Amino acid sequence: MRDWADKCALYRYRCAHCGKETRNPDKGHMDPNKGAGIDNLIPLCPECNNWASDDVIFGTDGRIVAVLSERFLKAAPPEVLRRIRAWLGGQGL
Ligand SMILES: [Zn+2]
Repeated sequence: MRDWADKCALYRYRCAHCGKETRNPDKGHMDPNKGAGIDNLIPLCPECNNWASDDVIFGTDGRIVAVLSERFLKAAPPEVLRRIRAWLGGQGL
């Protein structure tokens, strides 16, 4: 992976999390505790990048693999909460 343009092309100019087409995606950090190197960036639409903030860790496929803060649960769209509940097998949230 050479640069941001290559990364955006890899994701076909879609948000890595929700799949929405976005020609100018935000540079989302997969792990907010790591730097802004190309290996730690994924394209996110502004909405997903905004609610994710520094509160979750994304996998390379754009799925949430870890939650770092309870704050994001209050700000997450209902669809995100539904996915999390399904992922947890309907337990917890
Ligand atoms: Zn999105």
